[in-house]
Amino acid sequence: MLDLYHRFDGYEQLKPVLDGSDEDVLVRLGKPTLVRVPGTEPGGRARLVSCLLHGNEDSGYRAVLRVLREGARYPFDLWVLIGNVRAAVTGGWYAHRFLEGQEDFNRVWGWQEPTTKMRRCADAVLDELRLVDLEACVDLHNNTGANPHYCVLPQLSPDGLELASLFSHTVLHWGLRLHTLMEALSPRCPAVALECGLPRHAENLEWASSAVRRFLARESFEARTPPAVTLFEQCYKVVVRPEVPFTFGGALSEDVDLVLSVGLDTHNFGMLFAGTRIGVVEPGAAVPLCVTDARGVDVTDRFLDVTPDGVLVLRQDVIPVMMVTNAVQARQDCLFYIARRRA
Ligand SMILES: [Zn+2]
Repeated sequence: MLDLYHRFDGYEQLKPVLDGSDEDVLVRLGKPTLVRVPGTEPGGRARLVSCLLHGNEDSGYRAVLRVLREGARYPFDLWVLIGNVRAAVTGGWYAHRFLEGQEDFNRVWGWQEPTTKMRRCADAVLDELRLVDLEACVDLHNNTGANPHYCVLPQLSPDGLELASLFSHTVLHWGLRLHTLMEALSPRCPAVALECGLPRHAENLEWASSAVRRFLARESFEARTPPAVTLFEQCYKVVVRPEVPFTFGGALSEDVDLVLSVGLDTHNFGMLFAGTRIGVVEPGAAVPLCVTDARGVDVTDRFLDVTPDGVLVLRQDVIPVMMVTNAVQARQDCLFYIARRRA
């Protein structure tokens, strides 16, 4: 059987792998990689930093490499997971969230009966982490649309909010169950996904690096006074119906049944008002998007309508989050989510 992932224990094993450019390292690894850097204090706990679960999101990966190359040790065991390496090296650097034929590596965690290599890999990593006294976990991501830096918190808890507030004032409670890594780990310890803005931006790499350093420098994650964060709850998922060919901007044509408005992503975590033009379709066409709630129930009619002249509009005010800007990403995950503010 092929090894599902690489495993490195300590800097002696890891050091030769870290030579060269960030991309040289990826080529050398070739597959998911789990690293343990033993802590300086016997009996210390453990912290996990995960990155590159999506192969096109480089900021977190580069930030993690910076830390590993420094060779520092901490009072706790540092665990690092580098996720979908194949997607990051195939067909150009950081070109794919996941490869054709692969699953999304952040949708494979904690399935009961793993049917694929990727799910078995996820299970094996979780099995290994089960033996570890985890104190806190952070999973680093990038967005494809314009978003503030923010945290996704799968499980609302005082400790989770405390951890999230270390990174950002904007916190999104992830109410959907999608088998993400942080969902799988959050029953055990505070666990957040950190969205570091657009990939391939130097300032977002700097932000991710400082976030990782804060995570490693923090003495404890025990909740103190309730942190001052703006909490959003993710409620609905919006996708383009799979049979509908679409573009962002441009014109309707023989091959395009939906033209989405450009620039809606600039409203992420803000507000899109009732009546906002989301896109255009041919007059007489039905609503080309599908909105589902956390249980998967289709609630499209509550949110969207098509006018007689073919304009796709919102029926009510919504807070969009994670609105994407390209068709591939919209197909691979979703067009956007609808959130609401929590008191
Ligand atoms: Zn991601």
